[in-house]
Amino acid sequence: MKCLPTSYGEARYALLAPLLLGIVAGFTVSSCGDSESYNGIASASHSMLIVVSPHPDDESIMAAGTMYRYAHEPGWSVEVVFLSSGDAAGIPGPCREPTEQEKKRKIIELREEEARRACSILGIEATHVHFLRYPDKQLVATSTFSGGRRHDSFTPEGTSAVEELTRFLPRLVPEGTRHVTIITTSLWDAHPDHRTAYWGARQAAQVVATEQRIRVQLLSAIVHDEFPRGPEWCCLGDIVWPNEGPFLDYFTLSDIPERPRPPIWDVLFNVGDLRTIRSASLSAHTSQVEGNAELCMILLWKPYYQRWMEKIEEAFYEEYFVP
Ligand SMILES: [Zn+2]
Repeated sequence: MKCLPTSYGEARYALLAPLLLGIVAGFTVSSCGDSESYNGIASASHSMLIVVSPHPDDESIMAAGTMYRYAHEPGWSVEVVFLSSGDAAGIPGPCREPTEQEKKRKIIELREEEARRACSILGIEATHVHFLRYPDKQLVATSTFSGGRRHDSFTPEGTSAVEELTRFLPRLVPEGTRHVTIITTSLWDAHPDHRTAYWGARQAAQVVATEQRIRVQLLSAIVHDEFPRGPEWCCLGDIVWPNEGPFLDYFTLSDIPERPRPPIWDVLFNVGDLRTIRSASLSAHTSQVEGNAELCMILLWKPYYQRWMEKIEEAFYEEYFVP
């Protein structure tokens, strides 16, 4: 079976938000399109979850509850790969640091430590947490918006990032592995680094399936949505997302009439019972949630993190790659 393997022109589009409400009970997974389906995580023998996070904090935003569950599930191992360590998180300027370079170095050190702490809260030891240290926000040179999504041309660093993920992820998968699930950010994400992570993870999924002959499920999530701003499309729409409801709802997030929706989110994990864990792992990214004056990391978006802490379900777009 192969679902949506070759082209995003083939992507299916959302048609049944009300139906999705019926899927969220328990840790239930709907599969894509044929008779083969997973019953959550129970069917695994030796299986792996690899989380490809563009920056420290995206892993917890998109999948903290899911990571926690897989990390505690017998027969599963979990690896987390950070594409960038978020070195552009401070505002430019002298601040209290001698040089921009020194400031970046300290931000990387701090954010990696926070990432390790967040992963540890989720049950993932530091030896399973990897940092590729690509430069923050420098992976895409230009992009155009058409057909409801961005079409990117990568910078040399972006090209290297995709290539390194394609090589690195298969190396994490030991012989004898029966199944790999990769979670990453979406092709429909507004942040260029997030789309770069997607393309790298996707290419790696193809390699694992074709060369290692292991079945791969690729799950991707939107962290930052696109919003129309006059004639332009603007990034990070979720920060100004107007809905003040108690729960983060991906369908509302993506439901903008002017824009074709991303394809149906066909995998939903109910993490309503893991809000304390989600909250703790997100809070471990202290420089993001609280700011850090020493490194000119100014807190702009506390409500943004608060909303992610309140999330009760994790929603993913699903693709399969088979040997
Ligand atoms: Zn990010």
